[in-house]
Amino acid sequence: MIVAKNIFKSYQNQAVLSDCNFLGSNSKLIAILGASGSGKSTFLNILGGIEQPDKGTISINGKIYSTLKDKEQAEIRNKQIGFVFQEHRLLPELSALENVLLPVRIANESISEAKKRAQGLFEILGVDGLENKMPAELSGGEKQRFAVARALINEADTILADEPSGALDNKNAENLLDLFLSVRDKLSKTIIFVTHNETLAAKSDEIWRMNDGQLSREN
Ligand code: ADP
Ligand code: MG
Repeated sequence: MIVAKNIFKSYQNQAVLSDCNFLGSNSKLIAILGASGSGKSTFLNILGGIEQPDKGTISINGKIYSTLKDKEQAEIRNKQIGFVFQEHRLLPELSALENVLLPVRIANESISEAKKRAQGLFEILGVDGLENKMPAELSGGEKQRFAVARALINEADTILADEPSGALDNKNAENLLDLFLSVRDKLSKTIIFVTHNETLAAKSDEIWRMNDGQLSREN
């Protein structure tokens, strides 16, 4: 479970998050809606430990992030949480497979074990057989699927996705949502994603809205 308690964050004295609270249940698909500039990305980055809040705590499976040593924090960022961005952010000079293996190389873990896990992920994600292609040879939807595989390769429990369908057309956006649903069901992962698409949000288990620096549950 991932919990944000009393989070405050300002940039140049401009409050973005003020007493923001959130509780993400395990193995759920959770949508975050909200106007542009309302603080959704800031919140997701704080949730994932990429940014620090001015006040408040994030706890991940019962551990309060800020009380952990640097090494433990890095391990959470690397192994418990996977990020997916609006633009897939695959490195163009590496094959899809090598992109997916990057977090494994960073964590200095076994590549041969990871290749087996990758194969399983590619099958679940429907990109089996495409892994030796370069990103430029893949469609937008396929690239986003490999970005999801990269987020999962270190066996993270939670995926944080910041407008993952923002660069996709409606059909591919719906396909991505179906993919998230199968990641939830087949792998029991928690997926927290930011979207402007109310149709996608409506298919999620939980809908939260960011407003005036706070998140509130809508369903
Ligand atoms: P959203 O993702 O909902 O569009 P953001 O979290 O990106 O919103 O931004 C919320 C507000 O914080 C915006 O006004 C944005 O300009 C500001 N902001 C975000 N990141 C920074 C930063 N690193 N420095 C200064 N201002 C920032
Ligand atoms: Mg944003």
